[in-house]
Amino acid sequence: PAGPRLPATAELRARAAAALRRCGADLDAVTASTGETLPARTPLTGGTLAELAATTPEQIDAAVAEAHRTFRQWRTVPAPRRGALVKRLGALLTAHQEDLADLVTIEAGKIRSEALGEVQEMIDICDFAVGLSRQLYGRTIAGERPGHRLSESWHPLGVVGVVSAFNFPVAVWSWNTAIALVCGDPVVWKPSELTPLTALACDALLARAAADTGAPAGVHRLLLGARDCGERLVDDPRVALVSATGSVRMGREVAPRVAARFGRCLLELGGNNAAVVTPSADLDLTVRGVVFSAAGTAGQRCTTLRRLIVHEDVAEPLLARTVRAYQQLPLGDPFDPATLVGPLIGPAAGTAMTEALAAAQRAGGKLLTGGERCLADEAPDAAYLRPAIVRMPEQTEIVRTETFAPILYVLTYRTFDEALALHNDVPQGLSSSIFTRDQREAERFLAADGSDCGIANVNIGTSGAEIGGAFGGEKETGGGRESGSDAWRAYMRRATNTVNHSADLPLAQGVSFL
Ligand code: NAD
Repeated sequence: PAGPRLPATAELRARAAAALRRCGADLDAVTASTGETLPARTPLTGGTLAELAATTPEQIDAAVAEAHRTFRQWRTVPAPRRGALVKRLGALLTAHQEDLADLVTIEAGKIRSEALGEVQEMIDICDFAVGLSRQLYGRTIAGERPGHRLSESWHPLGVVGVVSAFNFPVAVWSWNTAIALVCGDPVVWKPSELTPLTALACDALLARAAADTGAPAGVHRLLLGARDCGERLVDDPRVALVSATGSVRMGREVAPRVAARFGRCLLELGGNNAAVVTPSADLDLTVRGVVFSAAGTAGQRCTTLRRLIVHEDVAEPLLARTVRAYQQLPLGDPFDPATLVGPLIGPAAGTAMTEALAAAQRAGGKLLTGGERCLADEAPDAAYLRPAIVRMPEQTEIVRTETFAPILYVLTYRTFDEALALHNDVPQGLSSSIFTRDQREAERFLAADGSDCGIANVNIGTSGAEIGGAFGGEKETGGGRESGSDAWRAYMRRATNTVNHSADLPLAQGVSFL
């Protein structure tokens, strides 16, 4: 059932401008009519909200130069004082949670609770980073020589270039930025060209936090532009770490460019996440976990559930209930509190979904529900499509591909080994889960020969990770880890120190010389 009418583009423009103003950014001041421009659009209607001045190549170089100059100063500021900047940022994010959530909904199409949740994640990572600013520990190591001390120190790394995707327009920036700043690294951010307004709001809030805490303004620079803008940032040898989130295609282009200049890369790329449902699974809990993971965020999370690998004995009851739940999902205006499925990011995403469904059916798939376009008359330039479930005879090429839309492919299995083999037989390796009450199956799934993903869950879905853990995945997902745990180490350089406090000079490995 579609909700009430969609908001008009003019209404959304006014709402975005007001949210930006409260965050400290003036939409009129960044709007341009000449030179290279970047349109800010909304997937709610497909309409254009503003034409923004795009960052020129000269401005990109100047931004990196400024961040690099700032690094020389920022790296000597004690980490707990760097933490004070992030603490202030967290307070401003808390005060402006609704404003940022408005912008996330307007630009990325997320429903209200998910937009608020994304900003909550930003607040949480700031808390985490502030604590971390007093815990950037090195180790003292048992050395082999008498009168010597062997230890390691962690030092700031340099400028961090953050390239981010449209679907987490603010959280991914905050994961990188909160951690980079306490680690002593200025950030130059190239957000998705699809979400420039949320980026302007974040930049304004961080600038305010810097002014309030006496931190240099050059700790953060924002670049507005498309792929070419990202390429220039990625190629700059002054950028010590490129943290890039987006498609596998993007990672395949970025990784060799950064490697060619021996820079450091942290890649967070596409996923093709699966859940294994075993005969002992609690079906009530499984249905809820599956529906949120697969249809939530209109299937546009990197951790979205895309493959359901279900034991043939429970396939029928599970599918009947899941299909019923899908058919009741309210779709429409993401600002309406009743809506659970908002729009796809744009018409191209809608076409990709339709084409993937056609390919799946050509390969023998049976469409159980969904795939229809809705609200086409009211919003011809937007893409509202009902989440789909397709039962597949086998794991065909389209199932092994990440289509960034709400399509859940269902495969059945007979033996647990078969389920694990199907699970791991895709190029991506981000998130995974198993629904079972059998401890052996659960432990096997988490073991070395179980799920090959960076995230492996039991009795919860594949999406919705907490910031306390390290986030990321293997294989074509790129191998990077961000957010919690010891992911901070990627933003620092390690120095191994040996200090001789004796009057002798014993050599390591018993070597004698002089
Ligand atoms: P995308 O790859 O189209 O764009 C991501 C960013 O990379 C954008 O800012 C874009 O301008 C930039 N970019 C593209 N090509 C580039 C190049 N050659 N050099 C430098 N920058 C370049 O991705 P998208 O459509 O915005 O986002 C969806 C994708 O992101 C999905 O594949 C999703 O799984 C993935 N994603 C992954 C994670 C994760 O943590 N693993 C998180 C969110 C999204």
